[in-house]
Amino acid sequence: MRLVLLGAPGAGKGTQAEPMSRELGAVHISSGDLFREAVRQGTELGRQVKSYIDRGALVPDEITVRMVMERISAPDASKGFILDGFPRTLEQARALDAALAQHGISLDGVVYINVSPEELQRRLGGRWICRRCQAVYHEVYSPPKISGRCDRCGGELYQREDDKAQTVKKRIDVYSRETAPLIAYYREADKLIEIDGEQDIDRVRRDITAALKNCKRT
Ligand code: ADP
Ligand code: AMP
Repeated sequence: MRLVLLGAPGAGKGTQAEPMSRELGAVHISSGDLFREAVRQGTELGRQVKSYIDRGALVPDEITVRMVMERISAPDASKGFILDGFPRTLEQARALDAALAQHGISLDGVVYINVSPEELQRRLGGRWICRRCQAVYHEVYSPPKISGRCDRCGGELYQREDDKAQTVKKRIDVYSRETAPLIAYYREADKLIEIDGEQDIDRVRRDITAALKNCKRT
């Protein structure tokens, strides 16, 4: 399946993408993870995008679209993909549609995880991520078994610089302005699957699984 996970920062896209990827046999492609890896490796792309990420701004569409399209073209994505954090602007959404149309394919659905701004702040404030495998935890909602260590791989957990309160506020503002219009865009295209993201992690997961059963594959 070819899916997009849409939702504000902290809505639970990464958390849900992992089990979905296993169940559907589709690769999880997170634009944020790709950018952070480029920054960590000190590549040319990493140098270009670091300042945008640090201040909670969007990386320019041209850079982002090029990077994600390259990743989608890799052989492992031919069986299907789950995009997490992309598209984030109308221009990115149109570029994605056009690129898929060139191959005679389209998205099967866009799962929109709806969460209130107050809850987003709580989630991002308590988020911890594994440095090694990128697994996501929350100090209250989904804590690791051993504090500071990843349950899955034993890697060290860290908090993202851009999860500090001031940058979170900026990122949520950017989401409302630049990304929220995609809800209407995909609703008009009859692709939108809206999920109540305020429920606990397992319930959100069950709702997504149930909704995808009714989703037409192209
Ligand atoms: P996103 O990828 O959309 O930015 P994440 O998946 O990283 O969001 O989730 C943000 C934080 O909220 C993480 O700490 C995660 O453990 C927690 N979280 C995700 N989904 C839920 C949920 N349904 N209920 C409570 N906490 C959640
Ligand atoms: P995320 O991990 O999805 O929260 O993304 C972290 C940061 O990476 C964002 O705040 C942006 O600076 C950048 N980023 C990730 N995806 C995109 C995108 N689709 N368009 C522009 N910038 C992005």
